[in-house]
Amino acid sequence: MSDPESMSDPESISGTGSISGTGVTGDAGGRDPRIVVIGAGIAGLTTAHVLTDAGFEDLVVLERGSDVGGVWHHNRYPGLTCDVPSQLYQFGFAPNPDWSKIWASGSEIQRYHRDVAERFGLMNRIRLNTEATAADFDDDAGTWTVTLADGEELIADFVICATGVLTNPQIPDIPGLDDFDGPVVHTARWDESLDTAGKRVAVIGTGSTGVQVVSALAPTAAGLVHFARTPQWILWAPMRLPQPRIVAAALRSMPGLHALVYRGLLGASAILPDIVRNDTWRRRAVQAYARLSLRVGVRDPELRAALTPRDQPLCKRQVVSGSYYRTITSSAADLVTDPIREITADGVVTADGRVHPVDVIVLATGFRAHDYMRPMSVTGRDGLTIDEAWRDGPRAYRMTAIPGFPNLFTVLGPNSPTGSISLQHTSERTAHYLASWLRRFARGEVDRIEVTAEATDEFNDDVRAAMGPTVWNTGCNSWYFSESGTIDLWPFDRATLDRMLAEPDPQHFHLTVAADPR
Ligand code: NAP
Repeated sequence: MSDPESMSDPESISGTGSISGTGVTGDAGGRDPRIVVIGAGIAGLTTAHVLTDAGFEDLVVLERGSDVGGVWHHNRYPGLTCDVPSQLYQFGFAPNPDWSKIWASGSEIQRYHRDVAERFGLMNRIRLNTEATAADFDDDAGTWTVTLADGEELIADFVICATGVLTNPQIPDIPGLDDFDGPVVHTARWDESLDTAGKRVAVIGTGSTGVQVVSALAPTAAGLVHFARTPQWILWAPMRLPQPRIVAAALRSMPGLHALVYRGLLGASAILPDIVRNDTWRRRAVQAYARLSLRVGVRDPELRAALTPRDQPLCKRQVVSGSYYRTITSSAADLVTDPIREITADGVVTADGRVHPVDVIVLATGFRAHDYMRPMSVTGRDGLTIDEAWRDGPRAYRMTAIPGFPNLFTVLGPNSPTGSISLQHTSERTAHYLASWLRRFARGEVDRIEVTAEATDEFNDDVRAAMGPTVWNTGCNSWYFSESGTIDLWPFDRATLDRMLAEPDPQHFHLTVAADPR
């Protein structure tokens, strides 16, 4: 076993050339680290912008999709809307005054991502339709080899996995699903040629996605059956509210005001961690509002009882909708809460034996949220694979570093999903944190950076303790839980996040310095 504290052979560290082909030394320091970023969604675009802005020029972003945007590129189902206000759901470095709605549609958000990538000169660093299938650490050279689907290999000093959380669709294991005669589509892989108008549509799943797609498809379908084995609490909000033009004009003409609004929203969201803590008045108020939304939205007591969740509001990722209750109480949609027994060639059979004939099945069944960079195979120091390291579920140090994987970092990695802190903010903080490490590498102060197991354990112990008194821990089952039963979320407030990612703490890392760094 190689000793991470030992000095590396300087000869072997130099690698075999530049990834981007530039090999240029940027403003960041004496040598230009070769950086491969995997993923061009929120995390990847942020990382690419922050690092190139910091002077790191030898950087390439690999994106398996045909466009940037990550979830906003892959999710194109009808009705897709972001339930976070647009003026908050944007990059701090790219404020957009011109959102058409308070809560923007998926297609508008996707256009924004494309625009940001172009405006900030990132497109020429991004290789679209390029899937990284493996990343292997070379113990001797101290470099990573990233293998692409076509067999090409890239040598890198640093690999940054910005591969997202809600990336890989969860296809349910329902008997007979493959025997269905009509189209079966997962919401995250929507077939844009699919026309559901005049068809009998089944929608399976009651999360944020299911609720949005039901409301969008029901008005034109010949009948929609919503298979909702586990009803969820839904907060009513006027999701179609336009952003007044005068607001856009004011924000456009006064960038200072826009920055103030952004910071204000970020500041206001600081109360969100309090909402998920036990016994706070804010939590009780939001929970009361969820119950009120159901009571006002569904007058029929029988239907209301069927739609009443068994767990507490906020226990799962909160669903927000201005139209679901209106749709499900109308004649355009039927609610079925019996679990699905099987799918036949022409319909869905529920546990009570009823047959529901349908023409199209829409799977709003969520994601394998704990895969992170997988199915890419990742092999770190001493042949340790990421599957072995994460046998008991994904674990990282402060969302970004993993013991056994030197010079590999994650942006929006384990514990980063959260409803309470902006993902863009988390990505920016993490990217700046990584820039600090890269500057040290550039100055020749360090070659190999590997977080210690002790620091990672300590962080995860703190996470577990902080999860105790949260609503997430009150007995519901959701994608928040990893395979091993840990809650894969960020339990602390934003100030803690900012502090933890302010500057690297060398005491938490094994740092190796070559005798004669190049
Ligand atoms: P989800 O919240 O994980 O919900 C999956 C749904 O599929 C659940 O209702 C689940 O039921 C159901 N399901 C899974 N397997 C099933 C089976 N075999 N039979 C019947 N039902 C089955 O997934 P999601 O709705 O795609 O949302 C995931 C996350 O994406 C959200 O929580 C949110 O973070 C994000 N999202 C955000 C927005 C936004 O506006 N910002 C919009 C969409 C999604 P059980 O609960 O019974 O397992």
